[in-house]
Amino acid sequence: MIKISNLNKVYDNGYEALKSINLDIKDGALVTLLGPSGCGKSTILNIIAGILDPSAGDISFDGDSIIGKHPKDRDIGMVFQNYALYPHMSVLENIIFPLTVGEKKIKKDEAIKIAQKYMDLTYIGDIKDKKPSQISGGQQQRVAIARALIQNPKTLLLDEPLSNLDARLRLSIREEIRNIVKEVGVTTIFVTHDQEEALSISDYIALMDEGVIQQYDIPQNLYLEPANLFVAKFIGNPIINIYELENANPMLRTKDFSIGLDELLSTRFKDDLKDKSYLLGIRPEHFILDDNGRIKVEVSSIEMIGRYMILHFDLNNQASRMVVDSKLAIKPGDLINIDLNYEAIYLFDQDGKRVY
Ligand code: ADP
Repeated sequence: MIKISNLNKVYDNGYEALKSINLDIKDGALVTLLGPSGCGKSTILNIIAGILDPSAGDISFDGDSIIGKHPKDRDIGMVFQNYALYPHMSVLENIIFPLTVGEKKIKKDEAIKIAQKYMDLTYIGDIKDKKPSQISGGQQQRVAIARALIQNPKTLLLDEPLSNLDARLRLSIREEIRNIVKEVGVTTIFVTHDQEEALSISDYIALMDEGVIQQYDIPQNLYLEPANLFVAKFIGNPIINIYELENANPMLRTKDFSIGLDELLSTRFKDDLKDKSYLLGIRPEHFILDDNGRIKVEVSSIEMIGRYMILHFDLNNQASRMVVDSKLAIKPGDLINIDLNYEAIYLFDQDGKRVY
């Protein structure tokens, strides 16, 4: 198990990039560090790899601290955004390179035998004699992964490995990456800023903001049970709708609609509602089209996605979105009645803490 305890990083210019990070990563798990650019994902990865030293805290592998250990002695494989393949070497030479240098180097023909397994796993056997410049971005990515795995590392670190690929290729390669690391059984830490990528690939996600882990959970829980407003806004596409509500017990009231507190499920309350105002979060898929719906809105535009479409409308003077079946005959300018799925809404206090 990888255990990160109270990890802190202050850069030389005084910027505190990590604030007491705690994370347990089980053997064989695929864990994603997710968050907006600058939240500290690469800083964590670089400290694990030994490229950076932490300012405080510890990281241990199976109970042994790795802080201070040379990067070479950490049993780690890494793949970065720019795959850094050696341009003058063939695919095969690139892959066996780590096995043919250093103290533990082995004979070239033995290395080639081992490479075959990883080339099969990553589907690059037929391009083994090509140079990196002669293969596609997706193939380069597979070569980089094969080269990282051939050393049989205990931990694989992947830093935004898909960011140089086009959208469709990203979809297929992320699936492949999951299959490959699961087949090999290597503990994998994957960094991305793309929530959809994280949701689709991970066993667990650590969603970060400003050097703090906001939620560490299985993908489903990040979407269904966000710990706070930041998580609710970061996860889900299209983005969640947020409205300010006045607490006028027994109602929560806003300009265009109100919610009776007795309509909410008592079991979902995490706290009593004592504040004057709260923020309501409702995902676009949790508005309901209903002729008797209590909220009347005018559809301003429609975005066709394929499986569903997004209706845009104004609610509470706020640009709002709801997701509906793409077969529905709704046009811009139509007045529609909608309601909320009360079981799927969230309430946050003004600090962003979830209370319902
Ligand atoms: P992410 O990978 O999530 O985009 P990083 O870990 O690269 O974020 O960076 C976290 C924060 O630390 C950012 O605000 C970044 O500007 C800052 N940072 C990164 N490297 C340095 C450095 N060498 N000196 C000062 N600040 C840095």
